[in-house]
Amino acid sequence: MDITQHGLDRADLVVLVGHDGLVEWSANRSRVEVADMLHDIADSIEDGDPVMTTATASGLVAAGYQPCPAQDAPAPQGTPVWSARLEWSLASGTMIRARYGVGGGELGQPATLTVRKAASEYICGGCRHVIARGAPHGSNAGAHYCGCCITTVRPADQFKKAA
Ligand SMILES: [Zn+2]
Ligand SMILES: [Zn+2]
Repeated sequence: MDITQHGLDRADLVVLVGHDGLVEWSANRSRVEVADMLHDIADSIEDGDPVMTTATASGLVAAGYQPCPAQDAPAPQGTPVWSARLEWSLASGTMIRARYGVGGGELGQPATLTVRKAASEYICGGCRHVIARGAPHGSNAGAHYCGCCITTVRPADQFKKAA
């Protein structure tokens, strides 16, 4: 087996597996990135994806965002989790008056999320880490939080009176 320079010039990663099972690989990327790519490929094969995934370490990382160092979520897939950081919004009405004794203000609540595999790359809504495609993280329809920023215990609401 032999990986030619020409083959490598046209690809970021070349893997050859011989009939005898010997593996030879060569890459224009770091070992960590290569391992990520291979994990991604293995996941997509297991999931039955018809299309091969592309590399996880992407343009977002190249653009200066930090890849998330969390290898795992604090809970298995499908578990409800919350963002550790509160999302603030203006709130008013009878519920606010009943709970806080004033007509309105800013209500901070954690995002309600579910642990899912990232279908694509996302920027974490809490810390701006890059969530790699396939990485377990917390998401809902509009938000994505990396493994560093989710918790299995719902943080308490906070309230600030309108100034
Ligand atoms: Zn993170
Ligand atoms: Zn984060």
